[in-house]
Amino acid sequence: MLTTTLITLITLTLTLTTTTSTTTTTNICIIGTGISGSSLSHFLRHYSPTQTQTIHLFDRHTKPGGRMATVTIGGDTFEAGASILHPKNYHALNFTKMLGLGVEKGSERAMSLGIWDGGKFLFKTVDSESKSAVVQYLVSVVNSVRMLLRYGVSLLKMNTFVEVTVDSFLKYYESTETRPIFSNVEDMLKWAGLYDLTTKTLEDELVGLNFSPLLIQELITVITRINYGQSVSMSGLAGAVSLAGSGGDLWAVEGGNWQMAAGLLNRSDVTLHLQEEISTVTNLGGLYELNSTNGNSYTCQVAVVATPLDELNIQFTPQISIPERKLQHTYTTFIRGLLNPAYFGLDKVSDIPELVGTIENPELPFTCISVLKQNKVNDVTYKMFSRQSMTDALLDQIFSIRNETFRINWGAYPHYHAPEKFAPFMLDDDHLYYINAFENAASTMETGAVAAENMARLILSRLSDKKPSSSYGLKTSTADSNLQHPEL
Ligand SMILES: Cc1cc2nc3c(=O)[nH]c(=O)nc-3n(C[C@H](O)[C@H](O)[C@H](O)COP(=O)(O)OP(=O)(O)OC[C@H]3O[C@@H](n4cnc5c(N)ncnc54)[C@H](O)[C@@H]3O)c2cc1C
Repeated sequence: MLTTTLITLITLTLTLTTTTSTTTTTNICIIGTGISGSSLSHFLRHYSPTQTQTIHLFDRHTKPGGRMATVTIGGDTFEAGASILHPKNYHALNFTKMLGLGVEKGSERAMSLGIWDGGKFLFKTVDSESKSAVVQYLVSVVNSVRMLLRYGVSLLKMNTFVEVTVDSFLKYYESTETRPIFSNVEDMLKWAGLYDLTTKTLEDELVGLNFSPLLIQELITVITRINYGQSVSMSGLAGAVSLAGSGGDLWAVEGGNWQMAAGLLNRSDVTLHLQEEISTVTNLGGLYELNSTNGNSYTCQVAVVATPLDELNIQFTPQISIPERKLQHTYTTFIRGLLNPAYFGLDKVSDIPELVGTIENPELPFTCISVLKQNKVNDVTYKMFSRQSMTDALLDQIFSIRNETFRINWGAYPHYHAPEKFAPFMLDDDHLYYINAFENAASTMETGAVAAENMARLILSRLSDKKPSSSYGLKTSTADSNLQHPEL
């Protein structure tokens, strides 16, 4: 017993160089360098410019960014995970501007879309290769009319539904003078008027709003399958976020969204421990000891989990308790070659829409296929999403030419299930926090940053040991290619 105490004391003295100084420096350890962990370090510095914290970030991979990662195929770089940002993703916009990164917008020419049911295209937009702005405008008018004829005024209701949800979300950018610090996800969502949407399925919500069944079964299903690999029985808020990701003016960071994480870490004066997988987190009573699979040990006053815990086996002592949650796996397959028109019952490749979306049909082997780049006539780079791994045999039916294939299996986002149950932001009564509890609301780069911003204020207010006047619910919860990310 005495030996154990002595060893603990020696370990603490060795690792906790900062606590012995006269200034009250706090060690903050963050597990995960995706957008959540990197923006947390940014906001901690932002709200506590006196820099009395040392911030350590750990990642098991060799590069920061997590689910923001790129893949290089045929010399071109493409997003492999999180790809698109909404024009009102203001944290991401600020980061991009602050870090001097470039913005990539979608092309003026909309991609042609086809809705495939496994046997035929239920709906196809018309298309023109013309570069003329007038022609493209006319094509877009024709397509809008065709969509209106098929789906009726429900299409307009869909825009309104998305706008109302986005407007509610904008409350998270309000000044900190009027915006409380939230100690649990439920309060954070209720304050913005978004909680109710997490208690029912997207389908129930839309049926309640008198959306046409055809629109729900076809276009809306195509969108939720593309953005979250799930059907309209996913919870309503994540469903609405998914629809917001199908509008116009979407953008990405030129050269890869992961650069936001790298840039934020770079300017936040952090100590970065890459290829350092944390395996245990132990509360020693006011201090946390983190051990890595490499045999290293770190102690800190604050420990933050900035990654979904669902498929990890980090051992917490004492044990933590969070609701069970399954991750939706999205198999992302990049193919360089040519689609087989016969698979789609067509004569020519050019008749296949650039974006093939699908409806819910258990027989369908993929959720979508889209053209990333037309290299030459018979040489196209495609991206495909599916719920199961695409076997070579299957790919050989769908593609007539296949020169390069690259596969990633992502534990991509929560499998959304209404009513959502949320894990706590605070995993114990001390200073163990969990940013990705917010992912049950919706999983995006921006929601990661929004949750991290709140988390920074929550940590700082609790460290300062006084309840902030604006706190909200603080007492209520304790509750085979040139891959640039070879670690994927
Ligand atoms: C295929 C796909 C498409 C998507 N499309 C979009 C999109 O278009 N737009 C959008 O906004 N969002 C999209 N998303 C969602 C988005 O990627 C995520 O919501 C967001 O990137 C999550 O960031 P995060 O920092 O919370 O987690 P992550 O990015 O997962 O970061 C967690 C980090 O923790 C590290 N880690 C895990 N365990 C340990 C450990 N034990 N020790 C050390 N490190 C550890 C991981 O290596 C990882 O780097 C998509 C996701 C996928 C997979």
